[in-house]
Amino acid sequence: MPPFDVPEGDPFGSHNLPYGVFSVPGTAERTVGVRLGDHVLDAGAAARALGSPHASLLTQPTLNPLLGAGREVWEEVRRALVSWVTERRGEVEGFFRPLSSVRLHLPFEVADYVDFYSSENHARNVGQIFRPDAADSLTPNWKHLPIGYHGRSGTVVVSGTDVVRPSGQRKAATDPAPVFGPSVRLDIEAEVAFVVGVPTALGEPVALGDYREHVFGLCLLNDWSARDIQAWEYVPLGPFLGKSFATSVSAWITPLQALEHARVAPPERTHALLPYLEDAEAEPGGYDLRISVAINGHVVSEPPFSTMYWTAAQQLAQMTVNGASLRTGDLYGSGTVSGPEPGQRGSLLELTWNGRDPLELPEGKRTFLEDDDVVTLTAWAPGADGSRVGLGEVVGRIVAG
Ligand code: MN
Repeated sequence: MPPFDVPEGDPFGSHNLPYGVFSVPGTAERTVGVRLGDHVLDAGAAARALGSPHASLLTQPTLNPLLGAGREVWEEVRRALVSWVTERRGEVEGFFRPLSSVRLHLPFEVADYVDFYSSENHARNVGQIFRPDAADSLTPNWKHLPIGYHGRSGTVVVSGTDVVRPSGQRKAATDPAPVFGPSVRLDIEAEVAFVVGVPTALGEPVALGDYREHVFGLCLLNDWSARDIQAWEYVPLGPFLGKSFATSVSAWITPLQALEHARVAPPERTHALLPYLEDAEAEPGGYDLRISVAINGHVVSEPPFSTMYWTAAQQLAQMTVNGASLRTGDLYGSGTVSGPEPGQRGSLLELTWNGRDPLELPEGKRTFLEDDDVVTLTAWAPGADGSRVGLGEVVGRIVAG
């Protein structure tokens, strides 16, 4: 492998180093890779060659052993990787492969999957669309706890996986009876997801301040949603088949250590919080992530993650406050990220106001997704000294069911 350069300002430079799992086409073996520019470092092979004590965590078919190893090990491994790709670059040159030459896999075995609803702008938009006569577009509980539901971990798929249009029951207000067929309101939800590393025992809630002892990193997530199926089925128990057919995540998990310069305080709290969620004195719990949503290559929205009302630390505290245990590989989504401006909405439901205001794309108008549409989520965060930290993209193509 001849030496390659990472251009100055590359969002995947040595300040980033997200983790994934790759294989070489024609072989079955999966192993941990670390992205540098448009190359992937075979981290396990490099670790073995350099005598790293953590080589066994990196020569694995999933990230789960590394995730479970805990914060001290995460920091040691990251320090070693930074050193290998900078001052010891010559010693690991032979362990890089072009990204275009490898196959990327779901980087970890997903344990439990939870999805939240933590953007105030999104919740208000949805409230106005579906409950136009309500006095308040937010439900009475919204400012008191991060609302969530348990999703289907077995259908979390890696970026690049086709999404088959789901079929199901729907019943519009004007329909005399339910009908069955392919969803006609297939949507996206642009989200950020958090990956749990260190588990807990049943009965042990995670305090707000312990969030970074348990959460390894984050990635982009697209919570595909069939709005017509969802609207008919969700009363009174919440999302079910309208969501569980597929959820796409990035092939790259960005460690929290790469995002230290992106930490920001969440929006000002407008309601008093119960002590287990009170973060007024806590370290900044938000992240300044600039998300971009593109359909067939055309950017349709740029949701700002810094506007999220509830933080990842509060979400973790909420999902364990009843004593529910964490498992290595647990994944929790932020909920659709929508900013205050129309061009910052993270779903087509909001962008088209439930189909009333179609988007104008070069290939035609869009209310909801059509077959062969390709949706791409990308994002970056501020790094040190004006640099950018890129998040791995999430891409999915809709195929006919
Ligand atoms: Mn969602």
